[in-house]
Amino acid sequence: MNELKSFEKLKDNLEKFPSIGAKSAERIAYNLLNMSDEEIEEFISNIHEVKTKIHRCPNCGLLTEQETCTICTDPTRSHDKCILMLDSKDVGAFDKVESFNGVYHVLRCNINPGKQQTRKDSGLDEFLSRVENEKIKEVIVAFGGTIEEEITISIVTKILTTKNIKVSRIARGIPRGQTLEYVDSLTLSDALDGRIEIK
Ligand SMILES: [Zn+2]
Repeated sequence: MNELKSFEKLKDNLEKFPSIGAKSAERIAYNLLNMSDEEIEEFISNIHEVKTKIHRCPNCGLLTEQETCTICTDPTRSHDKCILMLDSKDVGAFDKVESFNGVYHVLRCNINPGKQQTRKDSGLDEFLSRVENEKIKEVIVAFGGTIEEEITISIVTKILTTKNIKVSRIARGIPRGQTLEYVDSLTLSDALDGRIEIK
C-alpha cells in the first residue's frame, strides 16, 4: 500500500486537539489536502498571526491583541466585583450576562504543590495586588469541582477574607464539569445572582 508519511504526520498533529478522534483527524487532513495553495497560505499565516499577536493582558490575564485588554481599559466597568476564573475563554459567556458589569481575572493555573504548581506559577500574588490597587470589594469564583480547584479556592478565600474582601462562588445550577462557554446567559445570570458567599 502506498505510504503517505506526511499525511499520517498531519493526522497525528490533528488528533492532539481535544475531541478530535482518528476519523475526524483524517477528514480534516483530506480537507486541508484539497485546499488551494492560496487558501493554505492564508491558513498558515492566520495561525502565525494568532500566535504572534495574542498575549495575556498584564493586568487581568485575559487574552488580548491590545497592550491592555478592552475590559481593563473600559471606564464604564465597575471594579467592585471581579469574577475569578481559570480559563480565559469563559469570559465570553459572562460578558453576555447584561446584569454583570464588573471585571475579570484569570489565574494562570491552580495551586497544586503535588504537581509543582506553586502560588507564584498561579499568578495569585499579582491578583492580590490588583484587588488592593483597584479596591475590589467582592471576588466571585467561577471555577471549582476538582480537588485542585477546591484547594486553590480555599487558599484564595483564606487570604481575601482576612483582608475583608467578600468571596463568593456562582450557584450550582450549572452541571459540574460543564464548560461555561456553552452555558446560556440566562442560566449564567441566575448562577451569578444566586452566588453563595464563602466564609
Ligand atoms: Zn485586562
